[in-house]
Amino acid sequence: MTQPALDFVIATLERIREKDSRAPRASRTALARLQAVPVAASLPAAPKPREGGRETCASPIGRRLQTPNKAELLAAVRERVRACTKCAHLARSRTQTVFGVGNPDADLMFIGEAPGADEDQQGEPFVGRAGQLLTRILKAMNFAREDVYIANILKCRPDMQAGSFGNRPPTPTEMQTCRPYLMEQVEIIQPTVLVALGAVAVEGLLGTRATMRELRGRWHTYNNIPLMITYHPAYLLRNQAPSEKRKVWEDMLQVMERLERPISERQRNYFL
Ligand code: SF4
Repeated sequence: MTQPALDFVIATLERIREKDSRAPRASRTALARLQAVPVAASLPAAPKPREGGRETCASPIGRRLQTPNKAELLAAVRERVRACTKCAHLARSRTQTVFGVGNPDADLMFIGEAPGADEDQQGEPFVGRAGQLLTRILKAMNFAREDVYIANILKCRPDMQAGSFGNRPPTPTEMQTCRPYLMEQVEIIQPTVLVALGAVAVEGLLGTRATMRELRGRWHTYNNIPLMITYHPAYLLRNQAPSEKRKVWEDMLQVMERLERPISERQRNYFL
């Protein structure tokens, strides 16, 4: 920002502070946008010499601030995550961080708990067997993976003891430490609907510990965004009963209705 513009912003904030007992606040996204404004873009454009030697005024369009788009804002957060060592044990054990994938302008965002071994290897969330099932669920909803945004609470794979296999759930402390990155992702993307996959993701997101029976199938909110809670696809891999698949599908039907997506009779009757 130029110095006069900065002075103006500070003076305005001071006036708000004097008039109002509450301190002025700015969202993380607003701060990120300000920090990311290229200095050159905020400077007044140099006057263009006209033919004949006389100068014209610079176009007001040329003076407008170039605010970064959502993809650029996400890329800036991704870079901070890539270098993050807040959980030293996870920074040591990870192959790479797993930030998130999909459309930065998505209406629909899915949130899982943490990367597993496959995700840690490939650097993308939900690519293992559970991820493939999520992709099939999306297809049944007439979405491609590229249409939505998918992220986890934790950006590093929870470490495992040497010689042990499988994945472990993240601890409450690990989730609390990493959650600010997810909050930034949600603030930037501003999806119309959020879907949390599984009780651990809900605990990481809302700090609520409850059974899926109590949580799923109804609307909650996160930062004023409607939030649907459903089973993690890994649960459906363990429990293949059509009744459980139908529960997840009913949750997704509610999501489609909220997004005002067309739903065919055939789609309504899946797993009945
Ligand atoms: S889990 Fe999150 S907070 Fe912890 S080191 Fe990885 S990126 Fe950083």
